[in-house]
Amino acid sequence: MAGSGGFREECGIVGVWGHPEASNLAYLALYALQHRGQESAGVVSTDGSSLWVHKGMGLVSDVFDQQVLARLRGSGAIGHVRYSTTGATHLRNAQPFVVGHRGGGLAIAHNGNLVNAHLLREELEGRGSLFQSTMDTEVIVHLMAASSRPSTRERLVEALSQVKGSYSLVLLTERGLLAARDPHGFRPLVMGRRQEAVVIASETCALDLIEAEFLREVEPGEILEVDSRGLRGYKAFRAEKHQCVFELIYFARPDSQVFSRNVYQVRKAMGRALAREHAVDADMVVPIPDSGVPAAIGYSQESGIPFELGLVRNHYVGRTFIEPREQIRHFGVKVKLNPVRGFMEGKRVILVDDSIVRGTTSRKLVNLVRQAGASQVHVRISSPPTIGSCYYGIDTPTREELIASCRPVEEVRDFIGADSLGYLSLEGIREAVGGKAGEFCMACFTDDYPVEVPLEKPVHQLSLFQEM
Ligand code: AMP
Repeated sequence: MAGSGGFREECGIVGVWGHPEASNLAYLALYALQHRGQESAGVVSTDGSSLWVHKGMGLVSDVFDQQVLARLRGSGAIGHVRYSTTGATHLRNAQPFVVGHRGGGLAIAHNGNLVNAHLLREELEGRGSLFQSTMDTEVIVHLMAASSRPSTRERLVEALSQVKGSYSLVLLTERGLLAARDPHGFRPLVMGRRQEAVVIASETCALDLIEAEFLREVEPGEILEVDSRGLRGYKAFRAEKHQCVFELIYFARPDSQVFSRNVYQVRKAMGRALAREHAVDADMVVPIPDSGVPAAIGYSQESGIPFELGLVRNHYVGRTFIEPREQIRHFGVKVKLNPVRGFMEGKRVILVDDSIVRGTTSRKLVNLVRQAGASQVHVRISSPPTIGSCYYGIDTPTREELIASCRPVEEVRDFIGADSLGYLSLEGIREAVGGKAGEFCMACFTDDYPVEVPLEKPVHQLSLFQEM
């Protein structure tokens, strides 16, 4: 889901139905999905007669404790972790989003970004809708409320037939759980079982943690419904797959199974392809931890150059991108990574990372490695140059801020201060991920956007109030 003003956000979602400790399982699953969002966390549960809600700003461990979980009663629950960089960092925008609906409650948790949300919102407001948040997700709820269809599922289908963009969703009422994935399947969503309980989650690492067996992906365009009558799947929309390749490159956890692929293996294959495409004589392959590790292992195995942990990460600092201010983000690189002194002295180092966005991280790290005594620093990136912003749920800065959007590779190399710079080609990525041509969205590398992106509106036109 995204806040107003076009700030795109990644998120993690989970749904559990049919387990006496549903909220505990949802909470644990959110731990496994914490990498998908660190700004806020929330769980909504149901005991069949009410919805119980708890949301807060911060990490899962900051938001929940035993007392809170004990109050989240019942055998159904959904949960959400939110990731954002700028804009509406406010509890009002934390999810799951809960409303009163036809005499009961309705909670929704969303991963993705609806590109026509502002147009729909304008229309709905014109008809008298009063919005509580600045999230695109809220549009879905208003569209459901406006529908005259008899069941929650049918109202959801009607609402989703009007939205464009990316969504992996879980919804909870007192009577059941619904899950939906957009027809393009931009964001991942999987289904599993823990004994009789049904579990839906963004990634399989969440199923692993709560010992649920992975059954299958929720298909693009599919809606799942589970209630006292059991589990049912509906092909609501015709699928036209454009799964986000960046989930495989960077976002998903390497121990997850995403888009029917093992993320770790795919990242290693990208590293191997990178070694074939951009070979260089060097003494060691050093990853930028953690994101560059699997690709660096692949590069090392393919090239025969030893893999070394030349940079050590402090795991108690959040991800670079969540730091809201420019100065802090720069500082963040030093807080997080430290070279092993003496180890790279006089050595030719191949530094591997998954992507260059603004170029700030690579620039700082090349400098750090040089200061640690490396005689040469060769940067290798396991994806093509990032030239376009994402409108489907991955947070990327504006095109102007993307260093590769208007500069040739040589200028990027010069900016980051490396002796050489090599990006994995589009063909290399396609080969590493496999599957049918066109099955993946690669708009950030190709500028070819599978869902048209209407012009975005500035923040003040979208919200009635100023976020503080
Ligand atoms: P930059 O310093 O802007 O070039 O950022 C590059 C670093 O950010 C790389 O180490 C990537 O692993 C990481 N990265 C790339 N995309 C994202 C994203 N959407 N959110 C957070 N980190 C990212």
